[in-house]
Amino acid sequence: MIRTGFGYDVHKLTEGRDLILCGEKIEYEKGLLGHSDADVALHALCDALLGAAALGDIGRHFPDTDEKYRGISSILLLKEVVRLVGDKGYAAVNADITIVAQRPKLSPYIEKMRENVAKAMGIDIDFVNVKATTTEKLGFEGREEGISATASVLIEK
Ligand code: MG
Repeated sequence: MIRTGFGYDVHKLTEGRDLILCGEKIEYEKGLLGHSDADVALHALCDALLGAAALGDIGRHFPDTDEKYRGISSILLLKEVVRLVGDKGYAAVNADITIVAQRPKLSPYIEKMRENVAKAMGIDIDFVNVKATTTEKLGFEGREEGISATASVLIEK
């Protein structure tokens, strides 16, 4: 039995926060605003996994009203999501993540991001793809007001 899932998330860029994408700290003058570490890429991935297993969404499992998730590393959230999916009898096969950001340039970080995701999901790095794109300066990502991310996954029983 195989199932697919898709996830999408957006966070606002702001001063005075670290920029964390796929568990990696990125050198940039701004960071993403959020209750957790605001790792938009991992939030999209969590939603893709939860979607594939018909387990709802990240907001249901980790409400932003809960103090215990304040500032939490989204790598921990991802590990918990993989556990929830596992409890339903499914294992992740692969993940494909796209990060949409005008700046900064993410290519130097991609390999480390793949490593972080593969490790947290318990799968081989060859089954994790991370890519980054700009929007040619169009829209909120293009104006550097925020960063969005999408993810798709396959899980199997
Ligand atoms: Mg989010």
